[in-house]
Amino acid sequence: MTTLHHNETLPLQILKLHAREVLDSRGYPTVEVELTAENPRHPGEPIVGSAIVPSGASTGEGEALELRDGDKTRFLGKGVRKAVGHVNSEIADAIVGRKFSSVRELDAVLLKLDGTENKSKLGANAILAVSMAALRAHSVINRMPAYEMIAQLSGQKGVTLPVPLMNIVNGGKHADNGLAIQEFMIVPSGFSTFSEALRAGAEVFHHLKKTLHDRGLSTGVGDEGGFAPVFSGEKPHEQAIENILTAIRAAGYEPGKNIFLALDCAASEFGNEKGYQFEGRTLSSADLVAMYADWYQRYPIVSIEDGLAEHDWAGWALLTRELGSRCQLVGDDLFVTNPKVLKKGIEQKTANAILIKLNQIGSVTETLETMKMAKDANYASISSHRSGESEDTFIAELAVGTDCGQIKTGSASRTDRIAKYNQLLRIEERLGARAQFAGASLFQRK
Ligand code: PGA
Ligand code: ZN
Repeated sequence: MTTLHHNETLPLQILKLHAREVLDSRGYPTVEVELTAENPRHPGEPIVGSAIVPSGASTGEGEALELRDGDKTRFLGKGVRKAVGHVNSEIADAIVGRKFSSVRELDAVLLKLDGTENKSKLGANAILAVSMAALRAHSVINRMPAYEMIAQLSGQKGVTLPVPLMNIVNGGKHADNGLAIQEFMIVPSGFSTFSEALRAGAEVFHHLKKTLHDRGLSTGVGDEGGFAPVFSGEKPHEQAIENILTAIRAAGYEPGKNIFLALDCAASEFGNEKGYQFEGRTLSSADLVAMYADWYQRYPIVSIEDGLAEHDWAGWALLTRELGSRCQLVGDDLFVTNPKVLKKGIEQKTANAILIKLNQIGSVTETLETMKMAKDANYASISSHRSGESEDTFIAELAVGTDCGQIKTGSASRTDRIAKYNQLLRIEERLGARAQFAGASLFQRK
């Protein structure tokens, strides 16, 4: 019988590694890994940890490399057989048969094996899938849920259920409706538990469907499960916001009291330092900042992500000066979950929050390092999905395990999005009285 001291974990001894090509929520290939490890408590009865990596559409230039085959005869060039091959050969050769004390130690070996700045040798999709599968296996070995293992690695309590930022109107690259802004989210933070917040969010989603339908607008959904109607008027973006406010009220909630709004502009997709193409006009960074400030006055917005393009650091500085003390300003394409880029942002006082996407950086360890850097600098972290997702629920575990307090995982539709919400419901139940909800105190409008 093995006896363990406090905070000590049984090691991860890898017996087998297997990757395969599976499909993501858009029907494109992605990497799934199954990692088989020795079970120290019951030798001969190995345990398996598995993971599927996600894939973005509005990707930041600084993201780690997602290795695609480029063979046009398969999946329009988007196959991932090369990345799968790297797991099954180079990575397996390097780690099978070895014992690791933690995923941190394993990740260090993977990073060294790749040796490049952006994981272009083995592919971030290959490395991350192994890293996530290893964390799952290691948590099972130690008879703890994944969020608890993440909490241990990140020095957190691992008891905080996140406020969901629910993307209920999709635009930009995630829809074909001509909206420049990619995501219009509701933020049901004014509730005492995660499950109540989620219920409110889902109710608003259903009321929005009715609102849009009654106005003769399409109720088909975009990549992240939000509606994607064509708002034909001069100011389609304000129409999107107004329709959401109508739906919040119709559901019996109060905008600005228990449900707030958040935007992901994904501005790199409609502009650069030279100008932003918005509602038929070319706007400067200052024009765009002025528009956000005006919206902030008129609407209960608490968070704006990628309000400016990723290279527009001057515009970002202006936005931060203008709204940074009142509103959460989130860097996604700007920071690409990369500690080096985040460091620059912190030094220059740019933004005040970071979107966390594991596959932008490509390993669990580096993701936790970025989140720690953010926390130490008083920047908020938001655990986030990609527009191309799967049944994998790792980001739910990450949100709770790091106590980061916010998750962005789409609307109240599409199983690829719902899977994460359902996992959070399970975690909430498991934590019982220990569960905390980041809720009401998170956002205060000034
Ligand atoms: P992506 O979009 O996964 O297509 O990059 C999500 C986001 O921009 O937050
Ligand atoms: Zn984004």
